[in-house]
Amino acid sequence: MAGNGECVAIGIDLGTTYSCVGVWLQQQERVEIIVNEQGNRTTPSYVAFTAAERLIGEGAKNQVAMNATNTIFDAKRLIGRRFNDELVQSDMKVWPFKVVVGQGDKPMIEVTYKDEQKQFAAEEISSMVLLKMREIAEAFLGSTVKKAVVTVPAYFNDSQRQATKDAGDVAGLNVMSILNEPTAAAIAYGLEKNAGSDIYKNVLIFDLGGGTFDVSLLTMKQGVFEVKATTGDTHLGGEDFDNRMVKYFVEEFKRRQKKNIEGSPKALRRLRTACERAKRYLSLTTETSIEIDCLFEGIDFSTTVTRARFENMNMDLFKECMELVEKCLTDANVSKSSIHDVVLVGGSARIPKVQQMLQDLFNGKELCKRINPDEAVAYGAAVRAAILGGNATKQIQDLVLLDVTPLSLGTSVEDGVMSVLVPRNTSIPTKKEQTFTTTQDNQTSILIDVYQGERTRVSDNHFLGEFHFANIPPAPARSPTIKVCFEIDANGILHVSAEDKATRQTGGITITNENARLSKAEIDRMLQEAVKYRAEDEELKKKTEAKNALEVYVYKLKDAILDQNITTKLSLAQKRETEDAIEEAIQWLDCSRFSEVLEFEEKQHYLENIWNPIITKIYE
Ligand code: AMP
Repeated sequence: MAGNGECVAIGIDLGTTYSCVGVWLQQQERVEIIVNEQGNRTTPSYVAFTAAERLIGEGAKNQVAMNATNTIFDAKRLIGRRFNDELVQSDMKVWPFKVVVGQGDKPMIEVTYKDEQKQFAAEEISSMVLLKMREIAEAFLGSTVKKAVVTVPAYFNDSQRQATKDAGDVAGLNVMSILNEPTAAAIAYGLEKNAGSDIYKNVLIFDLGGGTFDVSLLTMKQGVFEVKATTGDTHLGGEDFDNRMVKYFVEEFKRRQKKNIEGSPKALRRLRTACERAKRYLSLTTETSIEIDCLFEGIDFSTTVTRARFENMNMDLFKECMELVEKCLTDANVSKSSIHDVVLVGGSARIPKVQQMLQDLFNGKELCKRINPDEAVAYGAAVRAAILGGNATKQIQDLVLLDVTPLSLGTSVEDGVMSVLVPRNTSIPTKKEQTFTTTQDNQTSILIDVYQGERTRVSDNHFLGEFHFANIPPAPARSPTIKVCFEIDANGILHVSAEDKATRQTGGITITNENARLSKAEIDRMLQEAVKYRAEDEELKKKTEAKNALEVYVYKLKDAILDQNITTKLSLAQKRETEDAIEEAIQWLDCSRFSEVLEFEEKQHYLENIWNPIITKIYE
C-alpha cells in the first residue's frame, strides 16, 4: 500500500519467541511497525510441518498443541552453535521437537513433513521466519523487498552472526547489516529524544525479553551514538520466569492431588500458557487466579498467585539481571551517577519488581519507558535500514553508529595462551595488527588460529577457525616477521589476513574448520529448497482456493434445489440427477485432502455441466 517498495530496505527484529518488522516511511518521516495478516504487530518465530503443509508464524503457533514434535521454535538458540554446546544440550531436554547431531557437530532439527523424515539446520528455520517477515512487509508495501537489517543479541559471537546472515541469504534477503538489539533500541530512543541535541549523555539500555537479556551502555551526542559496552545472558528472560511458575504449580498439584503432571506434555503446556498469562496480569495487579479445567486425569486446577509470591520465585534471576547491569557499568568504566537515562526494552522489562530494583540501583532515578518495549528493536533496525538503503530523510541521515565487539578476539601463542588482537568493547569497524614469528629453525609455515572470549587459555574460549600461512623462506627460528591482521567490518564479521614482511607475500587466507557455518554448497541447496517450499506453499494455496470454490458451488446448488421457486420447475429426473451429483461431490470433498487443483476444477465443471442446462431452461 505504501508503494515505492522496490528499493525499500526493512528492519527485522528476529526474536527467539517473536519477530517484528518495521520500515521507514520516507514521506511521513516515521517508522511503521507492520502488522501481520492477523493484525498483530509481532509474529511468533514458529515454523510447523504437517502431513500436508508448512506453516510459519501465527498459523504454526496456533496448532502447536496438536503437533508439538513438528512445531519448531527457539531456532535462534541453536543458530551458529554446535550440537555438543552445553546450552544446546540443556535446551534439548525441554524442547518437544527432536534435535540430532549432523555433519561437523552441527545440530539438526528433525521433523516429519508430508510423511517423510526431514532434517533442517537452525539457519533454514530462521530463514523461513525471515521469509515470513519479508512477506508481511511485501504485502504492506505492495512490492518486492530484497534488503534488510536484521538484529541479533549483543552477545552473539561471530559464527552466530554469520549464521544469521546466511539465514537472510536463504530467505532471499541481502542483509546489509547485522545490528545488536540494544543498539537498535537505542536508535529508536535517540530519535525520540536526543536527535540533534549537543548535550552529552550516557544511556543504559536494559533489554529483558522472552529468552535473552542484554544490557548496553551508550553515549549520545548530536545524534551520534557510541556503544561503550555490552553484556548480557543468552538464556535469561520471560520464559525462565514462566518455568519457575510452572515448577511451583506442579509441586502444588502434587501436594494437593498426589499426582505428578510432569509426564504429560499436554498438561504442562496448558499450565505454562496459564502461567504466562498470570505473569502478565501480575504486572498490573497484585493477585491473580489460575483456572484450568481437566488439567490432568480429569482433575481441574484452580489456584491464586500473588505478585509477592511471583517475585519470590524469581528473585535470584532478577538479581542476576542487576549484577549484569553492574558488570556493564564496570566494563564501560562509568559510574552509576553518570548515567543520564535508563531505558527499558523487552516485554519482561514491564515486571514492576524488575523496574523497582533497577530504579533502586540507580538511586531512585526515573526510568524511560516511553518506547514501546516490544517494538523498539525493529524500530531501530528500520531506521538503520533506511540509512544503509539510501531511503533516509534528513531527520535520520546524519546518525552515525559506532558499535563494539562483544567479546575479545585473538590467536593462540606458546603454551596455548590467548594473545588478544581486538579487545572486548573495541569500536567497530576496526583493524588491528600484530607481528608473529616462527619457533623452529627453517619453519616454513605457521598455524594461525582464531578464538573469541575473555579467558587466558584459548582452550577455554570459543574457537572460530584457523588457517596455515605457508611458503615462509627457511630461516633461523624467530627471525621471520609475519604481520597478522584482524579486521572487523561494519557487520561485526571478522576477516583475518597475514603478510610475510620480508617477501611481502600475503596469505591466500581462508578461515577453515568452521564447522558451525554453512558452506556455499549448503546455502545453495537451502536456497533451492526454499524456492521449492515456497512453490509448494503456493500450490497448497491454489488447492485450498479450488476446494473452497467447489464447496461454495456445491452448497449454492444445494440451496437452489431446496428453493421452492426453482424446485417446482424441475422434473423428477432432473431433481434426482442434481441431488445425486451434489451428494457425490460432498462425499468426495470429505476425502479430498490430497487432491489436485485440476481434480477440484473437473468436479466443479462436472456439476456445472449438469446444472447450467437445467437452470438456463427454467429461465428461458
Ligand atoms: P519480547 O521478547 O520483548 O517480545 O518479550 C516477550 C516476553 O515478555 C515474554 O516472555 C512475555 O511473557 C513477557 N511479557 C510481555 N508482557 C509482559 C508483562 N506485561 N509483564 C511481564 N512479562 C511480560
